[in-house]
Amino acid sequence: MQPRDLSDHSPYVPGRGVEEVARDRGIDPDDLIKLSSNENPHGPSPAAVEAIRERADRIHQYPKSSHTDLTAKLAEKWDVTPEQVWVSPGADGSIDYLSRAALDPGDEVLVPSPGFAYYAMSARYHHGAVSEYELDPGDDFAQDAEAVLTAYAGERIVYVTSPHNPTGSTMPLAEVEAIADATAEETLVVVDEAYGEFAEIDSAIPLVDERDDVAVLRTFSKAYGLAGLRIGYGVVPEAWGEAYARVNTPFAASELACRAAIAALDDEDHVSQSVETARWAREYIADEIDAPTVESAGNFVLAEVGDATGVTDAAQDRGVIVRDCTSFGLPNHVRISTGTREETREAVETLNETLADLGLGVRA
Ligand SMILES: *Cc1c(COP(=O)(O)O)cnc(C)c1O
Repeated sequence: MQPRDLSDHSPYVPGRGVEEVARDRGIDPDDLIKLSSNENPHGPSPAAVEAIRERADRIHQYPKSSHTDLTAKLAEKWDVTPEQVWVSPGADGSIDYLSRAALDPGDEVLVPSPGFAYYAMSARYHHGAVSEYELDPGDDFAQDAEAVLTAYAGERIVYVTSPHNPTGSTMPLAEVEAIADATAEETLVVVDEAYGEFAEIDSAIPLVDERDDVAVLRTFSKAYGLAGLRIGYGVVPEAWGEAYARVNTPFAASELACRAAIAALDDEDHVSQSVETARWAREYIADEIDAPTVESAGNFVLAEVGDATGVTDAAQDRGVIVRDCTSFGLPNHVRISTGTREETREAVETLNETLADLGLGVRA
């Protein structure tokens, strides 16, 4: 007896974990600099950790008021109704909820290439089909309405990632609006702002209130440093609010995750320090690495090193873990997450030595 035919489903390829690499190489995890998963190098907000400790002895109860409180807090932050805030296990959870709420079997979604793998995965889980729009490496992967609309053929959901993963490029709000204007009434434009805090552009969330065909994704995994807890949210048009109760997995956002997120929202110093470090580090990487880079508004930089797998493996032997972008369809690129100032300096030095040894270094 077998599961259904899953041959169309490709497994998610995450950045490699520190413990995993340390075990493979027989080295101490503390000797590794892990810049492969866009995690927060400052760790979580201490207030979030404290909230988890405080609540730990109550986890025999289902999360109820914590979920309500977090939803209300986010609604207030973004000036939308609580019904418009879909709290979920990571932003990935909201992608699933949108797939469940939007897709009939065979409906299509339009996703960026290169791009975040989970949009397509989720659509396929929900018996949807996937088509892609191309971001042009020759144009620094620039994101505009034209690139999307050229490929658009009436898909039910169009995904835009801004700042984009893995390129770091942003899509101006006017372009998002142009896409929403040009697409069918039944097409939802989903703007994934997982890295929104790091960017110096406005969120698309006000558009969600002005119109009924744009939704926005946000997460606590990146700037807030809570990736291990799995907590994020979608902000949806008013008419979609009611669907949440019908599609969400009951209690999927845990008690500890909701409480930690509430505390993290109040710790503005932690977020601003995280953003400041990322902005410094992405400039530093772009200036110092011996490879062409793409201008990034996120907490990572895409670098064209020539041989992604070769460089990733060789850098890992020297204690620096970066993301091989082959799985994104970019076999010449690595994505380097921003670390602390110290980690970033050390990582760039190691990467430049690696590039020189492989005969790949290109001084910009
Ligand atoms: C990290 C990331 C997410 C969300 O991750 P979660 O941990 O599930 O919140 C969503 N979209 C993109 C583009 C990301 O890089």
